[in-house]
Amino acid sequence: MAFRLGNLGDGRAVLMDDGLVDGDSARWWDLARLTGGRLADPMDALSDTGALHSLTGLGGVPSGTPDGEAALGDLGPPVPRPRKVFGIGMNYRAHVDEMERSLSAAPVIFTKFPSCLVGPAGDIVLVGDHTDYEVELVAVVGRRCRNLRPAEVWDALAGVTVGQDVSDRVLQVAAEPAQFSLGKSHDTFGPIGPNVVSVDLLDDPDDLALTCAVDGEVRQDSRTGRMILGVPGLVAFLSGVCTLEPGDLVFTGTPAGVGAAQGRCLRVGQSVESHIAGVGRLDNLCT
Ligand code: ZN
Repeated sequence: MAFRLGNLGDGRAVLMDDGLVDGDSARWWDLARLTGGRLADPMDALSDTGALHSLTGLGGVPSGTPDGEAALGDLGPPVPRPRKVFGIGMNYRAHVDEMERSLSAAPVIFTKFPSCLVGPAGDIVLVGDHTDYEVELVAVVGRRCRNLRPAEVWDALAGVTVGQDVSDRVLQVAAEPAQFSLGKSHDTFGPIGPNVVSVDLLDDPDDLALTCAVDGEVRQDSRTGRMILGVPGLVAFLSGVCTLEPGDLVFTGTPAGVGAAQGRCLRVGQSVESHIAGVGRLDNLCT
């Protein structure tokens, strides 16, 4: 039916209930147990979303007794080893304006190298005085695909998750042309989670409320419906260039309110809480 896939500890694929969408803990069911060992790893699970759908019932949980309960800090990144991680720049008009940039005729695409990924409660290790936060909806590819039409995109995704596109504002523009890919790929600069939530669990996947708070102060507050190019358009565009594979990630851009635009980048000891309605939250400490 529908599912929430998690990565418990260091690589154990689990299905979870909705406890972490707005609460502090969720029940989990071990996928290795449910599949006779076949889908023990989250990357294997993402390559067979049909099996995940068939294991769950209404509400997105399997029948039978859960194997345990987990908090945000017990989870690793739900997609631990994607082959590709795309980032999208300048995809909300108010963010384009605050960064004093002009609208681009083509999507602004960069890479986050997969080694930057951490779990939903992983620490963000700051670099210098210009490390910044960017809450983003992250699309997770669910099958090998190429040349998708926008109308085919949601069916090709495993689901979505919450992401922080943490950015080193100095390094990302240290060369000409700008090299966003390095400035956004320091180790720990890619918290994602808590779960990959299948699209059928979302009321309207094209218009989700998303926020980012620093030490409890809401800095970003928008909706994914305000993207310049939405998930279908972005993933269709990328699939026209690269073959997409299960687990590939697309960070879809951040709304207005980033620290750089206010002279308020992150400081050691601050907490960064990112939330997307119906998907879940990240809670990351800056160290
Ligand atoms: Zn971003």
